[in-house]
Amino acid sequence: MGRPLGKGKFGRVYMVRTKAPPNFILALKCLYKSEIIESGVEKQIRREIEIQQNLRHPNILRLYGYFHDSKRIFLMLEFAAKGELYKQLVKKGRFSERRSSRYIAQMADALHYLHGKHVIHRDIKPENLLIGIAGELKIGDFGWSVHAPSNRRTTLCGTLDYLPPEMVEHKPHTAAVDLWALGVLCYEFLSGAPPFEELSGARATHRRIARVDFTVPEHVSAEATDLIKKLLQYTPTARLPLEKVMKHPWIVKYEERNSGPTRPSEA
Ligand code: AMP
Repeated sequence: MGRPLGKGKFGRVYMVRTKAPPNFILALKCLYKSEIIESGVEKQIRREIEIQQNLRHPNILRLYGYFHDSKRIFLMLEFAAKGELYKQLVKKGRFSERRSSRYIAQMADALHYLHGKHVIHRDIKPENLLIGIAGELKIGDFGWSVHAPSNRRTTLCGTLDYLPPEMVEHKPHTAAVDLWALGVLCYEFLSGAPPFEELSGARATHRRIARVDFTVPEHVSAEATDLIKKLLQYTPTARLPLEKVMKHPWIVKYEERNSGPTRPSEA
């Protein structure tokens, strides 16, 4: 058992190492059964464990397995060496176009994989993303950190910021909710705040989401603005599909083979 990595609503996360060689490093999440039962999220957690255990993608945090005793459930999770993306965003204020583009490409790839398995994430936001050893993004949460400790959104205006119009209007929703959230994420990476944030309260955010009322700051490039606008569409079917997100000029431009010092044509 190693150092604590963090604290969530239902328990703590520790860095651990297996006793037997090759001494594998993991993150062990300990959830208290009593707290899960009190909050009435048993079924949700059971389903989420089942989903996450079957997912294999470089940008989705692996759940290797779980075990339990009378009081707790222990989740054996992939260790995300560079921690929470949210903390880095707060520290930096906002991310560069290159870094944002690389993260959105990785998110699009992971969401494409999820949607292919008929899994809708529904809760994409910086707080649910972790960073791996090579700086790669990992979707780290399939529900339980919805109940994680307070952050600026739960204290200021709930978790409305990433909800699409169809969800704030209580209409049926599809996988296109994740496309909307990808647009919100892209906006937040580049500007440092989500597009519909209203410090005056949830009702005002709700109104702005339903009206798709946002403006992209001037420092954001025309290509990134184009992608954000194509994702933040009121009509779910009008949102740019993931295949097209992955081929968008602003994404292609920063792909390793198209940029950086190791470009063969420049060598
Ligand atoms: P959670 O209960 O999922 O919100 O986790 C609480 C905190 O533990 C997170 O905010 C992270 O800082 C940390 N954490 C959770 N899972 C991992 C992981 N797999 N690798 C590294 N840190 C983690």
